[in-house]
Amino acid sequence: MKANKRRYRLIALLLLTALLLTGCTRGILDDAVSELDVDKIADEIVNEITDGLRDAAGQKVDLPAPCAEDGEPASAPVFLDDVPEYAGEAYCAINDNQPQFDDITDKAYEYYSPLDSLGRCGAAEACVGQELMPTEPRGDISRIRPTGWVNVPYDFVDGKSLYNRCHLIGFQLTGENDNERNLITGTRYMNVEGMLPFENMIADYVKETGNHVLYRVTPIFFGEELVARGVQMEAWSVEDEGDGVCFNVYAYNVQPGVIIDYATGQSEADEEVLNSGEQGTYILNTNSHKFHLPSCSGAETISEKNRQEYTGSRQLLILQGYKPCTQCNP
Ligand SMILES: [Zn+2]
Repeated sequence: MKANKRRYRLIALLLLTALLLTGCTRGILDDAVSELDVDKIADEIVNEITDGLRDAAGQKVDLPAPCAEDGEPASAPVFLDDVPEYAGEAYCAINDNQPQFDDITDKAYEYYSPLDSLGRCGAAEACVGQELMPTEPRGDISRIRPTGWVNVPYDFVDGKSLYNRCHLIGFQLTGENDNERNLITGTRYMNVEGMLPFENMIADYVKETGNHVLYRVTPIFFGEELVARGVQMEAWSVEDEGDGVCFNVYAYNVQPGVIIDYATGQSEADEEVLNSGEQGTYILNTNSHKFHLPSCSGAETISEKNRQEYTGSRQLLILQGYKPCTQCNP
């Protein structure tokens, strides 16, 4: 709001200066207009402009509130030093949760950076609207081998695979299937716990409102490492100026219970985590992310597709985002 007023004020001053110059030549305004008056008139013009914004129904419309405070550029790159160490949460807000988009548009577009010399993805950006959303089911993406793709199965990971071919901009948003510029090596955990909730938020909003959301996902690599340490996700809903969707988060490319060598993509089980705390056998619902005792009636009704038996650390389950069933209290 402040930044906008200032901008309008500057415009008003420029207008006034132009008016004075042309006015003088016509003799309408004389030299007696003091600087103070100029200031006062400029203020009045500002108020005129800012008070004058009304929507079709005649209701006064607030000026778009800039997501970021003026002053420091909000587009400062994300340095991993600024991101706290992973501590059990799949993501954290950065830059006060304020995204930075320089070009605001409600025209749908999508952009995927060319791969770098190591074959790694860069930022992917889109103005997501219903017109970009897929109308056909997702196709096969298995031909893509993103950098660091050294996939190893682990019993305690949903679907067993440590890594997913992780869309930067989710398929449900722009319908990009096997675009190598949009797929990175991401852990199951980052894909489901870190990124999916934000993708769903955008998808739901766009479907419900027909509005557009500016969305950018930037994989963050350390040096020449082949696996990203995480992704930065920024989004801002255009038509309602960030009221519907506005975030800037960093999702960690980690998998609890696994130690990842980000330089190569190789990995190993973290025995310390695997052996920590209470051990037991539980029945998982890989869809709802609840876990049960084998004897629980809730465990019996889980469909074959979503049911997984697990024996191991209870704490590791919770670290992966599982919640204990409130009936059987496993
Ligand atoms: Zn239960």
